[in-house]
Amino acid sequence: MTVLDQVRGLIERLSSEPICDDCICEKLGLTVRQHANHKTRELAGTPGFERRKDLCSICRGDKVVIRHLRK
Ligand SMILES: [Zn+2]
Repeated sequence: MTVLDQVRGLIERLSSEPICDDCICEKLGLTVRQHANHKTRELAGTPGFERRKDLCSICRGDKVVIRHLRK
């Protein structure tokens, strides 16, 4: 399983709740922040995902978050 698969799986499990890069890093145990940032940017370009400035559902910070759009 690739890091991208892990990130995608985590976001999908949250249903439509938004999560920031920092929380993704923490949840998945990623060490380099830039790594999650790169993955969420990649996911944001695929259908079903939305990346924008909003409140993170985990840390409640006003950050760039990504969420899975319900169909
Ligand atoms: Zn967060």
